[in-house]
Parts: sequence; C-alpha cells; structure tokens
Amino acid sequence: MHNREAKDFQYVFGPVASRRLGLSLGVDLLPAKTCTLDCIYCESGRTTRRTLVRKAWVPTDAVIAELARVLDSGPLLDSVTFSGSGEPTLHSDIGYLIDTIHRRWPGYGVTVLTNGTLFWQEEVREDLRHADRVIANYDAASQEVFDALNRPYPGLFPDRMLEGLVAFREIFTGELWVEIFVVPGVNDKDREIEAIAEAVAKIRPDRVQLNTLDRPGAESWVQPAMDALMQRFRDRIAAAEAVGGVRGRGSLGPPDDGTLEKKIEALVLRRPVTVEDVVRTQGVDRDQAERVLKGMCFAGRLGVQRMDRGDFYTCPETSRSG
Ligand code: SF4
Repeated sequence: MHNREAKDFQYVFGPVASRRLGLSLGVDLLPAKTCTLDCIYCESGRTTRRTLVRKAWVPTDAVIAELARVLDSGPLLDSVTFSGSGEPTLHSDIGYLIDTIHRRWPGYGVTVLTNGTLFWQEEVREDLRHADRVIANYDAASQEVFDALNRPYPGLFPDRMLEGLVAFREIFTGELWVEIFVVPGVNDKDREIEAIAEAVAKIRPDRVQLNTLDRPGAESWVQPAMDALMQRFRDRIAAAEAVGGVRGRGSLGPPDDGTLEKKIEALVLRRPVTVEDVVRTQGVDRDQAERVLKGMCFAGRLGVQRMDRGDFYTCPETSRSG
C-alpha cells in the first residue's frame, strides 16, 4: 500500500492521456493492488490482494467529494473513467457512483474499464447498466490460457465470464467494447484465437480492440506482439482494430511544481508514464516535465524502465519482475 494519505487526491487521478478515450479523468476505487486477476501484462504491477469480495473498498463519500473538487469547475474532459489499481466492479457502490456522476455532472460520459470476470453476478450487471461505455477484457477462451495469462482467483472460469458478458449485452444500451490483450507465446495459438473469435461473436460488442504491451508489465519477460500476430487476430475477427493514438482535447491547466510532483506520483501509482504523458496531461512543457521527473528519480521517488518506445517512469514500490 502506498502512502496515499500524503497526497491531495487519493481516488481521483489524471487526467490521463488514454490511447482510446482521449483525455480521461481516472477514478480508482481499489487500494493498490486489488483485483480478481493477476495478469502477467498488468501495467499496475503484480496483484497483491487477489479477491472476489465486493465491498466499499474505499469510502464512497470521499470519492464523491474528490470528484466534486474537479468536476464542479467543469473541466474539458473526454471521459470520467473507473480504472486504476485493480478491478473496479469489486467496489460495491460502483453503480451508485455512476448514477451520482450522471445526476450531479450530466455533461460527462462515464466509462468503466473492467476485466469482465464478475458479470455472471446479476448485481454487477445491474450496477454497470447505466454507464455510457464499458470496456471489458476477453483475452483467453480456454482455462489453460486464462490461468497462464490472467492468473485468476480460484473458481473463475472463462465460460462463466462469457455467459456474464452475453447476459450484460442483453440489458446494456450503452457502448460495449471488448478488448483482447495479445501476448506472444501465450494466447497466440490458432485454436485459442478461433475460440476467442467465437466468444466475441456471442458477446456482440460495438467494438473489438486489440491491445499489446506498450508499457512495462507485471512480468518482464512479456513481449509486445508483432504486426504479423496482430494481423492473425484481425484475419479472424474482422471488426478488430488496434488501440488507437491519443486524441485528448485539453487539460486541466498548468499546475505549479509541487502540485505537478503530486500529480505525477498519483499517475505512476496506477501505470508507468513517459515524459510525453506528463506534457499532454498536465499542460506543461517538455523541459519542465523532464526536470521534475528526473528530480523525482534522483530523490528515489520514481524508478525508470527503458523500453523500445522510450523511458517509462514507474512507482518504486510497485511489485514487478525483472
Ligand atoms: S490488467 Fe486489469 S484485470 Fe489484469 S491484473 Fe491488472 S488490473 Fe487486474
């Protein structure tokens, strides 16, 4: 658990320059890192609390109070997004929070990023039915690949996930996207791709997105998929598209340096960031972003991991291999 108490905001973070959602204000409803899965590619590092327990993991009133501090001033955002350090449907008040955002700040669309593991529960389907957009993962159709890739809490099965997502599609009138995270050597066999394609056809999502490693994951041996492998998925799932580029519309404005450090800490708690991420989301120039990031590294408040796409600044307390 990180020292969240020292930060101004504990549950609301960003805005984050999301490749899919544009400028997205994050809402994190779980203590790091609490999830039903422990995916080998997770940007938030390894799961330290794997659970199926639904409860108010963080105080609902405090989340609403933080949302009010940001949304009452009407910032330009593309989405208010439940995501962060774990699986948001584990929070038992997520339905109430979605309804509260719609009632108090009706101009904002609400997105939920979920791993889709709990939709077999009717109460979860009911909680999410008023979201504007739900993006659910479906990376594995066989138990063997699900166990290797997503490392689920015992008793979670891909068949049950599929049943839940199909039942959710029946009642959900918002946009349902399915995301498939592609990991070479794990979910790339023809038989698995075929089974995933059949499952996606049953779910009938509005969009299918293919994703692959873009930032440091939980396990250092996980590699991004090459174009040829992504094409094999696209050949079988005609509607599948790669996760697109950033298309954010604005920012909350330039913070002072102290605020910037706190905002960067809040961002890296959930996922590694690049200099460009800080420039885009915080409204600062590249020199200032680099100066603050390097200063935080020097002080031991950030780690740095080099990847093909550049340097990623990470939370030094997050559990990762390698
Ligand atoms: S990628 Fe999502 S579902 Fe997988 S461990 Fe991370 S937070 Fe959980």
